[in-house]
Amino acid sequence: TSYDQEHIARLAAQNVDVVRVVYPDLIGTDRARDVLIDHLAGACEHGLAFCRAVYHTTPQGDVVPVEGGLDAGLPDVVVRPDLGTLKPLPWEPGVAWCLGEVLDPVAGVPVPESPRDLLRGVLGRCGEHGLRPVVGPELEYFLCDPDPGSPAGWRRYAEAPGNVYTAGRRGDPDGHLLRTLRHLRDLGVGVSMGNHEFSSGQFEINLMHSGALDAADRTFLFKSAIKELARAEGRLATFMAKPFNDEGGSGFHVHLSCTSGDDDANAFDDPSAPYGLSATARHAIAGVLAHAPALAALANPTVNSYKRFGPDTLAPWLIDWGLDNRSAMVRVPPERGPGARFELRLGDASANPYLLLAGTIAAALLGVRAGLEPPAPLEGYGYDTARAAVLPMTLAAALDAFEADDELIELLGKGFAASFLAYKRNEIERFHRHVTDWEFTEYAYHL
Ligand code: GLU
Ligand code: MG
Ligand code: MG
Repeated sequence: TSYDQEHIARLAAQNVDVVRVVYPDLIGTDRARDVLIDHLAGACEHGLAFCRAVYHTTPQGDVVPVEGGLDAGLPDVVVRPDLGTLKPLPWEPGVAWCLGEVLDPVAGVPVPESPRDLLRGVLGRCGEHGLRPVVGPELEYFLCDPDPGSPAGWRRYAEAPGNVYTAGRRGDPDGHLLRTLRHLRDLGVGVSMGNHEFSSGQFEINLMHSGALDAADRTFLFKSAIKELARAEGRLATFMAKPFNDEGGSGFHVHLSCTSGDDDANAFDDPSAPYGLSATARHAIAGVLAHAPALAALANPTVNSYKRFGPDTLAPWLIDWGLDNRSAMVRVPPERGPGARFELRLGDASANPYLLLAGTIAAALLGVRAGLEPPAPLEGYGYDTARAAVLPMTLAAALDAFEADDELIELLGKGFAASFLAYKRNEIERFHRHVTDWEFTEYAYHL
C-alpha cells in the first residue's frame, strides 16, 4: 500500500536497511525475523511465515504439545508487519524494530494465542462501558556479570549492600543505568527515570503512563531492549521473579486508571466520594481483589514467581488493598485529580506485559460490571492472615484458580486459556521431573 511505501522510503532515508519484525509469544518472549528492507514491501503484502509452534516453544527450545500446534503437524502462522510501530534501534545501527500481527494463514484473523490481540479485545469490552484504561508500568530487574565459578554461571553485578535509591558509581561502578536510560530515551519508549533498587545489582526504570495497548507495546520493547543492551556489554539482565535466595524479587507494578467522556476526565477521581475515589475506581479495585487468585496465573506466570511472594518482602502475600500502603497488594497512591489511580503490586517482572495488562483490566472491568464493593482498606502494616486471604502460593494453584474463573476466561477467550493452561501445566511437569541443587544439599549427605 502507499502507506507502507511511505514508511519504507522514510527508513531508507534514515539509513535503515534491516527491519526486525517482532511479536510476543505466550510467555512474552520477543520472537522475530530480521527482514532486509528490499523484502519489506512483500512481507507487508503477504506476511511472514512462522511455525505456529513458536507460541508453544519453551525457553529451552522444546515444543509443548498444545492443540493446533504439534498435533496439527506444526502449521504456519502469518506475521504481518505493523509499520506504524517502526523504531530505529539506537544501539544497532541500520536496524529498526517493528511489531507484527500474528494471523491464521487461512482465516486471516489473529490466532487465539496472540497476546496483543487479546489485550485489544479486552480494551474493546471496556469501550462498551465508555472506559479507556491508562497504564503506567514499573519494572525491576537484576543485572549479572559472568562468573564461571557460580552454579548458574552468573553473579549479581556490583555486589554491595544498602544501595537502594542511590545513583552514581558507588552502586553502579560501570554506569549501566545512565547508559541504559539514554538508549531507552533515544529508542522513544517513553521512560522517565531509573534508580538502584533494594537488592544488589537490582535496578528499576519507570515508563510513562499512556493508553493500555501503547503501554504494553512499550513495555515489551523495553524488556527486549534492556536484555539486548546487557548482552551487548557481556552481561545478563534478568526479569525473572526471584533469581536469588538471599535477595528480594523483581516486581512489575501496574498503575491503572481510566478516562471517560468527551473531556477524557479521570473516571477514578471523585473529590466528593469516600477516599476521593469514584464508584468506578472502588468497583475496579474490588474486581481485582475478587479475581486475584486467577489473575496471579497471568501476573505471576512461572514456577519461580511464587518464591517472590511473602510477608515483609514489599511483594504482596495477601489479597488486600490500602491507601498509600506498600504492604498491600493494591496500593492507592496519594495523588488525586487527573493522577487518581491504583497501583497493582501483584505482578512480577517475568509477566508477559500484554497478558498482565489484559488480565488486570479484565478483572477491573468485571468489578465495574458487577458493581462490586471492596472491604475497608488495610490500616497500618499488612500481613495479618486474619484480615485477608493469602494469594495462591504455587503456579499450580494459580492455574487451577484461573481455569475455574469463567468470567475472566470469557473476557480473555477460551482458545487462549486452553493454550496457556496446557503450556504452563507442561512447565510445572518439567519442573517436577528436574532434580534441583536444593535436593542435593538437603538429601545427599544425611539420608
Ligand atoms: N521488589 C518489590 C517487588 O517485588 C518492590 C519494591 C518496591 O516497592 O519498589 O514487588
Ligand atoms: Mg521498585
Ligand atoms: Mg511501585
